Amino acid sequence: MRRSRPGGIIRSESADGYLIDHAANCLLNYLPEVNTLCDTVNVREAQIYRSKGARRRYLLKNGHPAHLPGGLLEFLGTDLWSLRGKLRLILEPLIPRAKTDEDETVAQFIIRRFGHETLEQIVEPFIGGSYAGDPFQLSVKSTFPILHSMENRYGSVMIGALLKRLKGSKANCPTHLFSFSHGMETLPGAIGHYLGERFVPGSRVTGIEQRVDKTWNIIADKDGASTIYNADAVVIATPSYEAARLIDTLEGGTSWMLKGIKYSPVVVVYTGFKRESVRHPLDGIGCMIPSGKGYSILGTLWNSTLFTDRAPAGMVAFTNYLGGRRNPEMIDKADEELLDATIRDLDKIVGISSPPSFVRIIRHKRAIPQYTRGHQGILKTVESMPGRIPGLFIAGNYLRGISVRDCISYGARVGGYLKNNGFDAKA
Ligand SMILES: Cc1cc2nc3c(=O)[nH]c(=O)nc-3n(C[C@H](O)[C@H](O)[C@H](O)COP(=O)(O)OP(=O)(O)OC[C@H]3O[C@@H](n4cnc5c(N)ncnc54)[C@H](O)[C@@H]3O)c2cc1C
Repeated sequence: MRRSRPGGIIRSESADGYLIDHAANCLLNYLPEVNTLCDTVNVREAQIYRSKGARRRYLLKNGHPAHLPGGLLEFLGTDLWSLRGKLRLILEPLIPRAKTDEDETVAQFIIRRFGHETLEQIVEPFIGGSYAGDPFQLSVKSTFPILHSMENRYGSVMIGALLKRLKGSKANCPTHLFSFSHGMETLPGAIGHYLGERFVPGSRVTGIEQRVDKTWNIIADKDGASTIYNADAVVIATPSYEAARLIDTLEGGTSWMLKGIKYSPVVVVYTGFKRESVRHPLDGIGCMIPSGKGYSILGTLWNSTLFTDRAPAGMVAFTNYLGGRRNPEMIDKADEELLDATIRDLDKIVGISSPPSFVRIIRHKRAIPQYTRGHQGILKTVESMPGRIPGLFIAGNYLRGISVRDCISYGARVGGYLKNNGFDAKA
């Protein structure tokens, strides 16, 4: 699908004093390449950071939001785990490494290393809300490569995390959660501006072909007119199903693999309420919801706590996520039904005493790609493609991370490869 703005699914909309991000709301960064990009396109000044009041993360437990422990003492005191569950978690360093190199699911890995309770109470709600996924389907090696490599390297995730912390591996780029004063679209907007005429809005690539001189013809349609661009290299950064279409005649097997990548649907129900209509203090980022408890919401983000100036004075704003692998049918529900389900759930979670004064509903039919078992094979095939078809590269959120941070990092990696191989990045 072509778009007339840069940024794909990232879109920030201002309406009635609210700032609504249609997809990504924030970026959790610990990578220097994200800062390099922000510097290059000159958006550092527009960056805003998580408010002090948004340190906590909540998780629904027995119908009430319970905050996730931020340290050992809070962990010992929390009732998110039973005593037995806590002991099982603490024993993680004693659990031996996996015996085989099997492509374990997230659920298998977490149960094996941390026990059932950690899966059910913490990981499942997190995967449901942040990945719109199912831990019994997702590959741990592909979805959380860092967990997998810590086990391989240190024999324990907890020891690995501790050692990394002691070594200060991220010291040159401390972790920050940020957005921009006008929302996440600021970043792709600035990239578009930086590219100038090299970014052609509203144009759809219909085909690519390699010429005898090994350069590429890129055939693009805009307003019914077709243009052919010539380039030394092509980076396809569309969703996987569109990349599959573009490479179909060049490498049918890879195209077939890409067609097999599944996406979960997500509905965003954005709501604004009078502050006094909400009972909860909203002293956190938001609340994640475990499956099987009868809720439609996967998670709710408390935008007006997370960043300042996200809602008019005296109002609060929530971004509520519905659908995912848990309830994919939500994508086809009518607006009234989605809103009713959201208000019903919000009332149980934070206590609502009057209807919202602002609502925006956004449907993402193919929202989040799912890295299921076998994903490593897809990666290997895609990343070795330039060896078979020189000058043809693929990037996107369906390869090595769905977050905006990971997409930037992957883009930098492809950019580095292009540079090292003598391709001049013109377009
Ligand atoms: C509801 C939701 C909430 C999220 N929240 C967060 C968050 O808070 N933080 C975070 O880090 N991540 C978040 N994400 C994930 C993140 O937003 C995405 O993974 C990321 O933005 C995807 O970027 P992309 O460029 O790979 O894909 P897309 O955004 O899908 O971009 C693909 C681009 O390709 C273009 N295109 C397609 N076909 C063609 C063609 N034939 N010719 C030309 N152009 C074409 C499209 O127009 C589009 O611009 C969220 C995602 C969703 C759905």
